Amino acid sequence: MNIIMLGAPGAGKGTQAAVLCEHFGIPTISTGNMIREALKNGTEMGLKAKSFMDEGKLVPDEVVIGIVKERLAEDDCKKGFILDGFPRTIPQAEALDAMGVEIQYVINIDVSDERIINRMSGRRVCENCGRPYHLVNLKPSKEGICDDCGGTLVQRKDDHPDTVLARLDVYHKETEPLADYYDKQGKLINVEGQDEVDTTTDLILKEIEA
Ligand code: ADP
Ligand code: ZN
Repeated sequence: MNIIMLGAPGAGKGTQAAVLCEHFGIPTISTGNMIREALKNGTEMGLKAKSFMDEGKLVPDEVVIGIVKERLAEDDCKKGFILDGFPRTIPQAEALDAMGVEIQYVINIDVSDERIINRMSGRRVCENCGRPYHLVNLKPSKEGICDDCGGTLVQRKDDHPDTVLARLDVYHKETEPLADYYDKQGKLINVEGQDEVDTTTDLILKEIEA
């Protein structure tokens, strides 16, 4: 099963992708995490992406399309995958179609801008493995520490309030049109994002397994 997660920054794409990845036993491909990883490793691509990312802008299409194409060619993607944070623009979606990749479901998690802005201040991420947490909605069992790997939980630089507004703006202009794009292909599933992670997951699974 090949799935795309769609939604505003902070809508819960990454969190739900992690749950579905467990549930279906298929890998999550998060372009945000891959870019952050490249940055941490000081690769040329990572350094090029940094300024875009820090300002809440999108990294150029050709860069992201390149990393996704390489990643999808790996063996573990053969039985299916979940794309988290890609595609984010119409040209990216067209590039994915051009790769001949069959997508079954596009899950659009709908959360209002107001709720996004409120949520973002509580968002934390594991510095080591990238797993997302939230101070209120999704706490680790031990404060400040990742359940999976013991890494330290930090606030992302681009989760600061000013950058969040810029990212929301980019989302409405560049990414939101993708809902229509996939609706026309008959693949779109709209889910109202809930504050409880499990409640959102139930809504998604009900649609997929219907
Ligand atoms: P979010 O949690 O807000 O959805 P991500 O971790 O997916 O954020 O992405 C963080 C940043 O990484 C984006 O603001 C953008 O700069 C860059 N990025 C990630 N995926 C893409 C993509 N598909 N196209 C362009 N830029 C991307
Ligand atoms: Zn971790």
